[in-house]
Amino acid sequence: MKNLRLEPLQSEGPIDAGAEEELFRDLGRQAAAEVLSRRWESAGAGSVGRCPDCGTQLRDLGLRGKRFQTLCGTVQLQRRMGYCNQCHATTATLDERLGANDTGITPGLQRVICRVALEMAYEPTKALLKDTLGFSPCSSREIERIANRHGKEIEIRLEMSSPAGKRPRAKKVYCVAIDGTMIPGLPDPKDHRLIWHEVKLATVIDASDIDAPFYVASTEKAEAFGLKLWRALDTRGMDPKNLAQVIADGAPWIWNLADLHFPGVTQLLDFYHAAEHLHQTAAALWPEGIANAWWHRRLEQLKAGELGNFFAALKLIAKRRTTSDPAVSPERLLQYFEENRKRLGYAEALNRNLPIGSGVVESAGRHIVQQRLKQSGMRWSLAGAQAILNLRTRHRNGQFEQYWENYAAA
Ligand SMILES: [Zn+2]
Repeated sequence: MKNLRLEPLQSEGPIDAGAEEELFRDLGRQAAAEVLSRRWESAGAGSVGRCPDCGTQLRDLGLRGKRFQTLCGTVQLQRRMGYCNQCHATTATLDERLGANDTGITPGLQRVICRVALEMAYEPTKALLKDTLGFSPCSSREIERIANRHGKEIEIRLEMSSPAGKRPRAKKVYCVAIDGTMIPGLPDPKDHRLIWHEVKLATVIDASDIDAPFYVASTEKAEAFGLKLWRALDTRGMDPKNLAQVIADGAPWIWNLADLHFPGVTQLLDFYHAAEHLHQTAAALWPEGIANAWWHRRLEQLKAGELGNFFAALKLIAKRRTTSDPAVSPERLLQYFEENRKRLGYAEALNRNLPIGSGVVESAGRHIVQQRLKQSGMRWSLAGAQAILNLRTRHRNGQFEQYWENYAAA
């Protein structure tokens, strides 16, 4: 680098700015890597220190070289190695101090790797990192490993996070919308059938629409998901008393979960699902114009809280009409709304300026889950999917940087 000789630029004509920028970025990176190498080596030049596991004074084994991947590219370090006679283990104290003891990739670079991997598949992550950093930090396998490790670490930290306890609770009124989205799992090892996993997703909406929504996503069973949601609300100091309603599309596990964790809280059948069911039956019974007119009257009755008239209209067609497809028959439609009778409080929700549709939860299903986990050819283990969901929700909830600060502090 010291021998670099550049021809001066001509006084006229085009300048290949892109090439100049890349050249100087690389030079800057190399210079930074040299400074980092000297700085870190001198920090580790002292005594060999004590065993991180048992605290015994380590036996000095001398210096050994290792390459580290950093945001400034490769840094070559001579580190003092120590041996613990108690644990029978060799330790490079400097690696531990840098937080790069297992992968040889520093936390600064791991953070950037996770930031990209939460947005896109591992192979494109590798390509994008190479294009933007100017060097390729590691293989896509290694990227996956790093994302999985931090996704899991996030889970552990969330589980350990302290409940709000006696801290003053926020007075904000909020709603919870819950939905399920299917993602492709690893094929069954016996018969190679494709297995699907359900991702359960809750969107917590500020009723006054000031705060951005936050998300809780889980590949676990309903009960574990419910506990996770409950804990997320608790650690944010959100009072269950201020939970105005739970909105969902009608899947039984969601209402069971709501009964279990939020007893007494108003349940609302997602208005758009209700509307869709009504429309399907109407379209199967009548030509478009009549079907739409009937449909609109039912929607108006639901919004106005005229449930007596609404059910009378449904009973009338259930008695008189039938469809060739039993799935959209008037009888089924009536049954569906009777099962959800206590979840049709749209008029009250509208009066209180609360949302009546889970448009927000369905769009969350798309941008939290599907965009990253449902791309063609993807197959997920439960743990792998959960790790990426943890990274994505953590980021979308505005807590990504906080995680890395805590990680560095630990
Ligand atoms: Zn030891």
